[in-house]
Amino acid sequence: MEIQSVGVIGAGTMGIGLAQTLAQTGHQVTLLDISDRILERAETEIRKNLRMQHFFSGAAPSLSATNVLKKIQFSTDYQKLKDIEFVVENATEKWDLKKSIYQKMDTICPAETIFAANTSAIPITRFGSVTQRPDRVIGMHFMNPVPIKPMVEVIRGYHTTEDTIKSAQLLLQQMGKDSIVVNDSSGFVTNRVMMLTINEAIFILQDQVATATDIDRLFKGCFGHKMGPLETADLIGLDTILYSIDVLYENFNDDKYRPCPLLKKMVDAGLHGCKNGQGFYNYVQGQKVAS
Ligand code: NAD
Repeated sequence: MEIQSVGVIGAGTMGIGLAQTLAQTGHQVTLLDISDRILERAETEIRKNLRMQHFFSGAAPSLSATNVLKKIQFSTDYQKLKDIEFVVENATEKWDLKKSIYQKMDTICPAETIFAANTSAIPITRFGSVTQRPDRVIGMHFMNPVPIKPMVEVIRGYHTTEDTIKSAQLLLQQMGKDSIVVNDSSGFVTNRVMMLTINEAIFILQDQVATATDIDRLFKGCFGHKMGPLETADLIGLDTILYSIDVLYENFNDDKYRPCPLLKKMVDAGLHGCKNGQGFYNYVQGQKVAS
């Protein structure tokens, strides 16, 4: 049976892309964040993304921006999740914060509701452990930007059942996404490799081996990557990168995951990358500009 109603927790970089994609593929979405100001910004962003998507694809949109937005309920009230079938959680990558969200959702949502964590590195089994439904907790690691990335890394927690995996795959199919299922481990497959690469690229910049532009150009020119590691870091968000590396460090107790001091300094200085205009490069309305 098709999944109709989806709760999206967190209206940041990932939550915005997810809410948009879910609404465009016909789902009723409840998008939750902690303030009306953040939700208003999310609505503006989705409207802008829909306009750009139409502009770049040249194709007539199947649903107008107004009709897509009508499918999204913007709210700060978790009680709105009381009849929801499926939740995808995209709050800030901080365990204590996420833990309280799962505990709250567990008391509000029906027992059969599935909780999917769109985390960068926190083990999925840990999310299950703070709920009464560890069999219905799963990892769904979406890629950024969600509307255009075709693949999702699905993570099986220790107690996640095959039925839960099938439901997650069904939702992804409804969203037009492909998926690969992996076992639980901090960072899963993609971010265990990606976060190390990005962190090491920042060490290289810190050691003045090359400029940010040249580091990125080498990866694009030598390996055919579409983006270099520092451009990717800006796209993900430098705060999210730092929190994810902290999680990997804490989970593996391995020095290879120690965060680069330059990354810490940039996050302390409020340089969060593309989303707030400054990172390794400068951005205006999400577009890279000459510094
Ligand atoms: P972000 O900082 O852009 O957004 C996080 C949002 O969570 C913010 O709007 C914040 O206000 C909200 N939030 C905080 N506490 C909340 C609460 N109690 N209830 C509801 N919302 C709350 O971060 P992001 O980049 O969207 O990342 C979100 C999650 O997705 C993180 O776990 C991250 O690791 C993961 N992720 C990020 C990327 C990426 O490329 N940015 C990719 C895959 C997964």
